[in-house]
Amino acid sequence: MIIIFGNVGSGKGTQAKLLAERLNYPTISTGQLLRSSSDPKIKAVLDSGKLVSNEILCPLLEKELKRIRADKNEFILDGFPRRVNQAKWLVDKIRRGELKFSVALCLNLTEETALERLKLRGRHDDTPIGIRQRFAEYETSVVPTIEYLQSQGFKVIEIDGSRSVEEVSASIKKALG
Ligand code: AMP
Repeated sequence: MIIIFGNVGSGKGTQAKLLAERLNYPTISTGQLLRSSSDPKIKAVLDSGKLVSNEILCPLLEKELKRIRADKNEFILDGFPRRVNQAKWLVDKIRRGELKFSVALCLNLTEETALERLKLRGRHDDTPIGIRQRFAEYETSVVPTIEYLQSQGFKVIEIDGSRSVEEVSASIKKALG
């Protein structure tokens, strides 16, 4: 399992996709899983930019992990964990041998660069309030999650995500060796 972290606008989804194509791994994107739901309650949370509850998300993720046989196969995890308790959930699975951790990548960029990029993307939840909320969630929830994984001895490689898609992709390739 390769985990990809990155703030909104960091190119996390794009890089996850490129990496998956290059390595021929499946990707699990929790954002995609949630966006494909037709539940109006989930849609409302997505539009607000807030995090969806673990009670809703973890069963969906669990099902995907089983489907791709994550205990045996490599894959890319995009968008999870985003809370310390989600990281604990994942670490328990790793320690039980239900998942194999390879590395985590973290795409960094400034809020300014991210905002410029998001103007061009126009996804449904890319409203000014939704974007602001996702930046706030990143600082208060995702950053401590990354620190928790590091404190448990899991390797996190920081990548400068402010550059072009090709440059970031080349850095990731180099970092993975
Ligand atoms: P993403 O496609 O990764 O940008 O995720 C889009 C949205 O899905 C986020 O703003 C959250 O509302 C929700 N989401 C994705 N992953 C998670 C997660 N691990 N925990 C809670 N909510 C999530």
